[in-house]
Amino acid sequence: MTEPIILAAACTHIGRIRSRNEDAVLVDASMGLVAVADGLGGRNAGDVASRLAIDTLSRALSKAALQSEWALKEAVAQANAHVYALSSRIPSYAGMGTTLVAGWVISSSKLGPQLVVAHVGDSRLYRYRAQPSPSLECLTRDHSSAQQLIDHGFCTPAEARQLPQRHILTNALGIEPHIDIDLLTTALLQDDLLLLCPDGLSDMLDDTDIAALLDRTSVSTDSDLDALAQRLVHAANDRGGHDNISVVLATPTKISF
Ligand code: MG
Repeated sequence: MTEPIILAAACTHIGRIRSRNEDAVLVDASMGLVAVADGLGGRNAGDVASRLAIDTLSRALSKAALQSEWALKEAVAQANAHVYALSSRIPSYAGMGTTLVAGWVISSSKLGPQLVVAHVGDSRLYRYRAQPSPSLECLTRDHSSAQQLIDHGFCTPAEARQLPQRHILTNALGIEPHIDIDLLTTALLQDDLLLLCPDGLSDMLDDTDIAALLDRTSVSTDSDLDALAQRLVHAANDRGGHDNISVVLATPTKISF
């Protein structure tokens, strides 16, 4: 068995208000793959859409001939096609959709570990970098009307957090036969910590809160990451837990360098 390329952990919780958990999470340490999907509320079968998207992504990438941004894009496009096909065929699933954010750590002997990110919707991928000084950066840009207002200078990110329309998505998976997917590839450093989450976490905790909870120095095993993920979920529930809350954490292992 090959050694895992990442340490990773996931935690998902229904929150304190919702009657169903429609988030789905994926951790595959040997493939270096992590993902979060948040089934769209107010529509049919959000839980079916998020689970199907995650399962399709995982299956498609396990068969990918080459590890590349292109392969990840193809896998997300396949997930879109599967969710859309099922929602078109089964009346009780009509109109279902989901967000999806995926991070794929690829080992490259020339460049060191590379992180490939794909996302659709407002689930996020953050990178916490401990050196030279601790910094938290969101590598994804929400596909939401709130983000559009920020982009056009109508409000600040802090003001956008208060807007009633902040959850209106401008892009989601499974709604249309074709999909626009945001992609990026970036190099990883040894102690980088990746956090993937849906709006159920990022609505309750802002970047300052998240950065304060992410203490990289306490992480050296999967169970350390697990405890950290649970701490984040707990903090979001303490703030009200208005939505389902999920956290996936990952960090490259030494073998990937
Ligand atoms: Mg949500």
